[in-house]
Amino acid sequence: MKIIDLRSDTVTLPTSEMLNAICTAELGDDVFSEDPTVNRLEGLAAERMGKEAALLVVSGTMANLVCVLTHCRRGEEVILGDLSHTFLYEAGGVSALGGIHPHTVGNQGDGTMALEDIEAAIRQDNVHFPRTRLICLENTHNRCGGAPLTVEYSDSVAALAKEHGLRLHLDGARIFNAAVALGTDVKELTRGADSVAFCLSKGLSAPVGSVICGSPEFIAEAKRTRKVLGGGMRQAGIIAAAGIVAMEEMVDRLAEDHKNAKLLAEGIAEIEGLSVDAASVQTDIVYFDVTPGRITADELVRRMSDMGVKILCLGPTRLRAVTHYGVTSEDIAAAVEVMRRAVRSA
Ligand SMILES: *Cc1c(COP(=O)(O)O)cnc(C)c1O
Repeated sequence: MKIIDLRSDTVTLPTSEMLNAICTAELGDDVFSEDPTVNRLEGLAAERMGKEAALLVVSGTMANLVCVLTHCRRGEEVILGDLSHTFLYEAGGVSALGGIHPHTVGNQGDGTMALEDIEAAIRQDNVHFPRTRLICLENTHNRCGGAPLTVEYSDSVAALAKEHGLRLHLDGARIFNAAVALGTDVKELTRGADSVAFCLSKGLSAPVGSVICGSPEFIAEAKRTRKVLGGGMRQAGIIAAAGIVAMEEMVDRLAEDHKNAKLLAEGIAEIEGLSVDAASVQTDIVYFDVTPGRITADELVRRMSDMGVKILCLGPTRLRAVTHYGVTSEDIAAAVEVMRRAVRSA
């Protein structure tokens, strides 16, 4: 039985070009900045993001942590969405390791935070208050259905940050999905940010790695922070080699994942007992719900898994499926059929 794994785009395996590149990569000690493959990856990433410098790190979680720790000192405050990945899913790292105070602002359905809500969260200079230092955006917004934030919105948050003397960090784990979905150059989406983090290991299918981009001064500091966290790697070129292939070969094909996600959502919309807002699906993530009383979300996950299709349960009624490299439109049709059978047999 072929397993169709729609739990996440992180389950993607490296392509044969990546495996080849790993085997033939020129290597050196990256703590001495002497790994030519890492240097090439960082140069390429900086160029793609429209920044001057870049730094390879182990994961998206480490990328965000390094950036927030580099921007803020202990007792300072970061403004971020209440549904943001950094607030929800990074084990509280910014406060656990950095003593940084998270100030959450409500995320709207489209992944944005209202500008007036961000502005209201910025602290006045008063001895009672922590000092606001940083605003974080997430693009695409994972928990808000993979919604891409527009250039216009990103620029307006950057302008607000600037007006108040704050820094802006962009958690762009899936920033290439946003650029492809909006039909824009990724640089347009990153231009107002002081730091950008993006993942090589999600839809871009590399086995490991995320990259931080910013000014040379910021990246030099970030490199110290990475070292503090134990993230200084040696012959990291074996990771970077796959990352280069990811950036060069795997970006344009994300459009196929978006098309498949749309197909999946339209299929789910036809199944009695499930509900989905198919019109809102713009990238590779589909959130949907079971009708309460019919079948629980975890029961649906179990039944589908027995039939070879894996999805994630996120609550009593809530489910998530993500399309990615290796999942074809035929697989999507098969997955919808399995879902229909699983619900019907309830
Ligand atoms: C996946 C993800 C991360 C973290 O990436 P890991 O490599 O899994 O640590 C950060 N932000 C967002 C929005 C993500 O979706």
